[in-house]
Amino acid sequence: MGATPQVESAARGAKSSSAIQFLKSGPKKLLINGKWVPAKSGKTFETINPANEEVLALIAEGDKEDINDAVKAARKAYEEGKWPNMNPHQRTRLLLKIADLIEKHGEELAELETLDNGKTIFESKNIDIPIAAEVFRYYAGWATKIYGETNPSEPSIFNFTLREAVGVCGQIIPWNFPLLMASWKIAPALACGNVVVLKPAEQTPLTALRLGELLLEAGIPDGVVNVVTGFGPTAGGALAAHPDVDKVAFTGSGEVGKEILRASAGNLKRVSLELGGKSPNIIFPDADAPAAVFGSMMGIFMTQGQVCCAGSRVFVHESMYDQFTDQLSQMAQGLTLGDPFDPNTRMGPLVSKEQHDRVLGYLKAGKDEGAKAKVGGEAGAMEKGYFVKPTVFVDVKNTMKIAREEIFGPVAAAIPFKDENDAVLQGNDTSYGLAAAVWTKDISRALTVARRLKAGTVWINCYGMLDPISPFGGYKQSGFGRELGKHALELYTQVKSVFAKL
Ligand code: NAP
Ligand code: MG
Repeated sequence: MGATPQVESAARGAKSSSAIQFLKSGPKKLLINGKWVPAKSGKTFETINPANEEVLALIAEGDKEDINDAVKAARKAYEEGKWPNMNPHQRTRLLLKIADLIEKHGEELAELETLDNGKTIFESKNIDIPIAAEVFRYYAGWATKIYGETNPSEPSIFNFTLREAVGVCGQIIPWNFPLLMASWKIAPALACGNVVVLKPAEQTPLTALRLGELLLEAGIPDGVVNVVTGFGPTAGGALAAHPDVDKVAFTGSGEVGKEILRASAGNLKRVSLELGGKSPNIIFPDADAPAAVFGSMMGIFMTQGQVCCAGSRVFVHESMYDQFTDQLSQMAQGLTLGDPFDPNTRMGPLVSKEQHDRVLGYLKAGKDEGAKAKVGGEAGAMEKGYFVKPTVFVDVKNTMKIAREEIFGPVAAAIPFKDENDAVLQGNDTSYGLAAAVWTKDISRALTVARRLKAGTVWINCYGMLDPISPFGGYKQSGFGRELGKHALELYTQVKSVFAKL
């Protein structure tokens, strides 16, 4: 167990007294059956502010024992008590209340997110927190609109279907959008009447824990949402393998995704996986150049490039390759890297030392294979914190490591293409298929290319647009199952056919 953190120092920059209060209120506990409890082992771990490498809080290190308790509480809540008998209108009101509470505590949540993850306060305030609230609001509407059907059975039979909850859902989330990922997972699960055991990422547990408090404040019945912080192989692994968990939803690396799938085999639980990507962002010569440069910049540098759908392979037509990559590099150079609490900062640190080292390894690999960093290509010059300069690599071939593997950092690999067919073939030449983009003023070309790209989301003349109304998920090794939109209801419901003999 570490020493009590010096919160004021670790959290410098945060203005909200409630964020500081939350950090100061002792080691963070697990939410199990509506109560805050320490890990059974008594163990804790530290969560670090990646901007200054100081300890923000001690967090309960839940493991198999705690997961067992959480699953037991969830099962009880699912089979007995208030939740299974709750009127759907009431569930709607509950989800709306959660959305309101997230908004009411928006500043505090944004600050906690920035402290724990390192993303700029500009992003936390304008993207993560408001969209998390919107996701709860969107699924609040669905709670009363989950329909079965009547089937054209013979006259002596009345046959209909019920769309019912799946049951106990284990949800394992990453550190790049901590509260937002929690909302993508919890909101549709609750709208459909399920119960949840959530395992946040060890690097960023704070907002999920604060959300747990807000869920209790909103009046969520005991055991309906449980939050167990801890490490992947122990807490996460126990959840994925648990024989009484009906479904597991995971977002993270492909490697762990495969482990989740293997662990699920014991009781054949339902699985949905969102596993990142190496998304092609294709720029044709007739594109609106300033918009394409800006969109490509946002597409790769938002959240320091730690985004599963980041436009990490920028395909530029050979006739404009030098000009476009010059402009992209200039814009990258103009991004202010530094204190994430400065409202003018546009890039903060990476989430952890591990991620920092990984990304620096890829910068080296790119250079070793002959790519040239037009801008960046090295760590930030700060004394403390896990900063990496925004990097644009040119002279990249689609076969290089930096074009094949998910870097999850602020690194664009710019690759030239000859014509439309070449762009599509190179774009699709990847094991991933999460997202893709095409920039052109030619509507036929845009729609043709959008059809040919093998990706779960395609953007035309924009990048990174997401909305709770629209499904999100992967082709190929980017995973399976669709989150958001009405498609997420498929993940969290199952269909029962009822025959009545008349
Ligand atoms: P990760 O290990 O896949 O982490 C994602 C989540 O899975 C975390 O909650 C993690 O717990 C948990 N986990 C880890 N091992 C587990 C296991 N054996 N069983 C069950 N759960 C387990 O990802 P990472 O190590 O943080 O990042 C590595 C790389 O993954 C990144 O560089 C990036 O390429 C990719 N990634 C993709 C996404 C995405 O949005 N698709 C998000 C994050 C990372 P702990 O963190 O507590 O150990
Ligand atoms: Mg942290």
